[in-house]
Amino acid sequence: MTQSDALALFESDLFSLGQTADRIRRSQHEHKVFFNLNRHLNPTNVCADYCRFCGFSVHRKNPNPYTLSIEEAVAQARQAHDAGAKELHVVSAHNQEVGLAWYFDLFKAIKAACPDIHLKAMTAAEVEFLARTYDLSFDQVLDRMIESGVDSMPGGGAEIFDESIRHYLCKGKVSSADWLTIHEKWHARGRKSNATMLFGHVEDPIHRVDHLFRLAELQAKTGGFNAFIPLLYLTKNNFLTGIKPAGAEEILKTIALSRIVLEGIPHIKAYWAMLGINLALVAQHFGADDIDGTIQRESIASAAGAKSAAGLDQKSLIDLILNAGFVPVERDSLYNELKVYG
Ligand code: SF4
Repeated sequence: MTQSDALALFESDLFSLGQTADRIRRSQHEHKVFFNLNRHLNPTNVCADYCRFCGFSVHRKNPNPYTLSIEEAVAQARQAHDAGAKELHVVSAHNQEVGLAWYFDLFKAIKAACPDIHLKAMTAAEVEFLARTYDLSFDQVLDRMIESGVDSMPGGGAEIFDESIRHYLCKGKVSSADWLTIHEKWHARGRKSNATMLFGHVEDPIHRVDHLFRLAELQAKTGGFNAFIPLLYLTKNNFLTGIKPAGAEEILKTIALSRIVLEGIPHIKAYWAMLGINLALVAQHFGADDIDGTIQRESIASAAGAKSAAGLDQKSLIDLILNAGFVPVERDSLYNELKVYG
């Protein structure tokens, strides 16, 4: 498929596109919808970088800085673990005040307190921030992550790869090429990661297609991405103005196109924290096969207007998936099946 073919597909009607995506999804995963028992932990919102779309970092529209001490972060990790979380998803803003050691000491302390928890931590943007700030190579940062107990990497910071859009949205943050290089290096260490794309802001469909093709190319080379997560831009508390929120049709088309173009990435996640649980369930008919997890507590999407701050309990998540006509499958962070419900 060429980029022009993909663009033409995107412009076709929702249900034809959805049917094609659904065929691929069902051939890979039948009626399963994957979820995990996880907790998001965002230890600081103090950020040295500036992204126009961000409602999470501290700025004049969000004047509430916080930075957890290592003890406070470990207490939250313990609480999550005791509540059944099997994965901790740790993403921070780019905090220059805490020092390099804070990041790695945090991971070591969490792993010491909860050795069996899967630690998914550090976006490629954070890796690049630490390398840039402390004059380290990407390899040095990645090796220290592994030494400190990080198991896999989340997919954040990819935003949109197109350089001109990226320059407008988040000038100074990790470049597209570096984002891809960091994931390639991580995969070369035998580790897995996820990939994301922030959509529904100032980009056009051609930029989404370009983004998907760059990811497909790296996946063909490394096979290291477990899941792709199209992240919906949320409109609150940020510095992009006049953006019309993407509607359900556009969101579903983007998810469907992702499933088709990224056939080499095993899972497409409809991230309920951003889409809302109902649209995330509908998206399971349009190519998605994963809905994320219980989350327990969430700070990034909720700062931008999502209703996800308190997460979802396991029973509600399972019931919602069953009621939507799918088979809920609890997975671990690497997509091994742990329990099939119903
Ligand atoms: S998106 Fe990340 S890097 Fe950008 S301002 Fe927000 S916290 Fe900072």
